[in-house]
Amino acid sequence: MAKATIAAPTDTPNTKSYRSGHVFDELGMAHDPNNLYLQTIDAVLTAAEVLELPHHLQLILAQPKNEVMAHFPVKMNDGSYKLFKGYRVQHNNALGPYKGGIRFHPEVSLDDVKALSALMTMKCSLVRVPFGGGKGGVKCDPRALDRDELMRVTRRFVSAIASIIGPDHDIPAPDVGTNSQVMAWFADTYQNIAGANMRHDSLRVVTGKPIEMGGSVGREKATGQGLVDVVAEMLPAFGTPLEGMRVSVLGYGNVGSWVGRLLAERGAIIVAVMDHTGAIHNEKGIDAQMLAEHCAETGGVAGFGKGVATNGGVKAGVGADAISEEEFYRTTVDLFVPAALEQMIDEEKAGWLDCKYYAEGANAPTTPAGERVLMKNGVEILPAILCNAGGVTVSYFEWVQNKSNVTWDIETVDRELNKHMVLAARRTQLAKHRYECDMRTAAYIAALDQIGKVYAMRGIFP
Ligand code: NAD
Repeated sequence: MAKATIAAPTDTPNTKSYRSGHVFDELGMAHDPNNLYLQTIDAVLTAAEVLELPHHLQLILAQPKNEVMAHFPVKMNDGSYKLFKGYRVQHNNALGPYKGGIRFHPEVSLDDVKALSALMTMKCSLVRVPFGGGKGGVKCDPRALDRDELMRVTRRFVSAIASIIGPDHDIPAPDVGTNSQVMAWFADTYQNIAGANMRHDSLRVVTGKPIEMGGSVGREKATGQGLVDVVAEMLPAFGTPLEGMRVSVLGYGNVGSWVGRLLAERGAIIVAVMDHTGAIHNEKGIDAQMLAEHCAETGGVAGFGKGVATNGGVKAGVGADAISEEEFYRTTVDLFVPAALEQMIDEEKAGWLDCKYYAEGANAPTTPAGERVLMKNGVEILPAILCNAGGVTVSYFEWVQNKSNVTWDIETVDRELNKHMVLAARRTQLAKHRYECDMRTAAYIAALDQIGKVYAMRGIFP
C-alpha cells in the first residue's frame, strides 16, 4: 500500500516526549494507562510541555473544575421504580460558558465523562468558539426505554442538574444516545423550573434542539460536515484529491452517515462501512444516501444486500456484500474514518488498517497503543478535536441565533462553519510545522496556546 508522502510522526522530536507523571503525582492522580481520562490528560500535558505552558495551568487543566454525580428515581411504565445515575462535569470555562453533550449509554462512567469534558475544552479553543468544556451523561440504555420512560429520565436528570447549568453558564447538547427530541424535553423541563426572571430566555440552555424549537439549520449534519471540511482542506495538499478517494467508515450514526453522504457528494467512493449490526463492502462504492435510509429504517447497516430490491430500500446494483469485522478493517482505502465509540481502534485493529489517512469522527476512538501502531505505519492521523469540532461550532451558531432572536439560512451556516474548520485546520498545521510534532499534539498546542493567552490576561482569582 502506498503511504502518505509526509514523514511519519514518530520521526519528529517532539512527539510523545513528555511524561505527565509529575503533574499526576502532584495532584494525587493514579497512573492507569487504560483509563481514558488519564490518557486524555496525558496527551494534553504532552502538548502543554512542548508549548511550555506554565506549570500552574497544567495543574488547572489536569482536573475538571466541577464534577457532579446525581442519583434519581424514575417510574417505569410497569409501575416499578428504577434508580439512575447521571453526571455533569465542567472541565474549564476560561474561554466562556461550559459546553458539551449529554450521553445516554449503559457504559457511561465518571472518568469517561471527565475525559470528554476535557476534550470539549480543547475543541472549543481550537475552533475559536467562545465556550469552555463540559460533558454529561446518564447511565442507561435508551434503546431499552420507551418514549415516555425516556422523557421521564430526561426530565428528572435536568431537574437534578438544573442548579449548575444555564443559558450563559453551562449549555448541554446531544451526544451518543440523545437527539433533538431529548433536547426538546431538556429545554422544556429547564424552562418550567427556571426562575421567573430568566424563563423567557431559557430555551438557550441547550443546543441541538429541533428547528421548530429554536434549533439551527445544518446542526444535524454539522459534525460530519466539519470533518469533510477538514479533509477537503488537508488531504489535497498531501496529494490526495477527494474525487475518487476511497473511504471506510466505522459507525453509521449521525457522524458516520453524514461523513459518508457528504464525502460521496464530493466524489469520494465509500467502499466499506461497519456498525454494531455488521460490516458491508462494495469495491465500486456503496450508495451512502441509501445506506443512511436503510439504517434509519432497520437500525443498522446489516442487510444492505447487493441487488435486494425492497420498498424504499436497496435498489439492485447499489448495495454491498456482508464482510467480517477483520475484513472490514483490512480493506485497502485512502481514508479511514472511525465514527462510532471511544477506544475502538486498539493495537490489533490499528495493525489491520490499510489506509494513508485516519480522520477521527468519534471522540477518542484510538487507544494509545493503537495510535503508536498507526504512527509506526506512517498513517497520518487527523485528530478528533479538529475533525469533529463542527458539531459544537454549529451549536455555537444556534446559541448565537437564539440570543439575538435571528435565524440564519443554510448557506450562512455552511459558510461560517467552513471558515471555522479551515482556520482550525491551518492552525493545527502551523503548530505541527513550528513544533515539529504529530498532528494530535499540534491540535492540542493550537488549543492550549489560546487558553494560555487568556489565562495570562485574566490572571488567577483573587
Ligand atoms: P450515534 O449513536 O448516532 O452513532 C453511533 C454509531 O456507532 C452507530 O452507527 C452504531 O451502530 C455504531 N456503533 C456502536 N457500537 C459499535 C460497535 N461495537 N461496533 C461498530 N459500530 C458501533 O452517535 P454519533 O452522534 O454519530 O457519535 C459518534 C461519535 O462521535 C461519538 O464518539 C460522539 O461522542 C462523537 N461526536 C458526535 C457529535 C455529534 O454531533 N453527534 C459531535 C462530536 C463528536
